[in-house]
Amino acid sequence: VTKSLDSQDLLEAHVEGVVVNSYHLASEPGLATLGRFNGVKGFMNFPGLVVSDSGGWQVFSLIYRNNIPGDITDAGVVFTVGSAQKKQMFTPEDSIRVQFGINSDIVVCLDDFTPPNASQEKIRESVERTILWASRCKAAFLRLVAEKGYSEQTRPLLMAVIHGGWRRELRKFCAEELVKIGFDAFGFGGYLIDDSTGKLDLELLKFIADLIPHDKIKFALGVGSPADIVQCFHMGWQIFDCTLPTRDARHKRLYVFTGSPIRINDVHYADFYKYVYINRNVFKNDEIPVDPTCDCALCKNYSKAYLHHLFKINDTLAFRLATIHNLRFYTRLIECLRQ
Ligand SMILES: [Zn+2]
Repeated sequence: VTKSLDSQDLLEAHVEGVVVNSYHLASEPGLATLGRFNGVKGFMNFPGLVVSDSGGWQVFSLIYRNNIPGDITDAGVVFTVGSAQKKQMFTPEDSIRVQFGINSDIVVCLDDFTPPNASQEKIRESVERTILWASRCKAAFLRLVAEKGYSEQTRPLLMAVIHGGWRRELRKFCAEELVKIGFDAFGFGGYLIDDSTGKLDLELLKFIADLIPHDKIKFALGVGSPADIVQCFHMGWQIFDCTLPTRDARHKRLYVFTGSPIRINDVHYADFYKYVYINRNVFKNDEIPVDPTCDCALCKNYSKAYLHHLFKINDTLAFRLATIHNLRFYTRLIECLRQ
């Protein structure tokens, strides 16, 4: 669920794809229910691209963030669940099996998580485990493709995640080993923030993009701000997913292009958009839409004053309309970049 939106809202905002959480979907509604609908696309009636994550992030979060006893070994992730402290194992094969149950278009290999402050030794260990797990994921993937009778045209795509932290030679080693195993798409994992600036390390992202063969899909996992997306797009990254536009919308922060019509290539890096903080009193009587050049359900029909009012009275409609607008801003940005 994209909070407060349904699949029709997503389509009308020209959203081409969504990322779903494998771990959460496997527990609720569960794979048996999804199976009745031939997977999550039928269940949520969304005809676009669906990418499932490996489920690893949720399992690692249990261990790293919630301090639940657990252990990460080459075999898989062991963690305890429930009041009975029952031990459970999550393996690369489990991850692929769950994602085939979800029936997504892009299936992601389970990768080992590298903590931001990891030592060089720990980064190397995580890279080696990521490669080992990726090869097991590939084998499990091929078994399931054969079992389900998919052809080369109807099978899902398989994506691997390049690790190596801030060590470029380890990123290179990881990418080369993963390319040897063979995948349709590549993303990156781990910490990619430049500590000196607190911003995304764009040079490292360019380095990683250049490690991926030209004919493979480049998925910029978790990117990003509109400015970062412009930079990454020019490096060759093609698919983006991010919580920023929807979360910012719920926090009353709307994105607006400064130029009209939009001409991204003409405008300077950081200047092509601005924020409208719709809760400000200056908008109380503003009769103009958030962005008069936008064709979304908010801008086509309502003034800034009306959205300001909806937030003020805490009506959930404010979330829906603001979220639709921010998503449409992102999809317009991508349309413009592709042109
Ligand atoms: Zn709009």
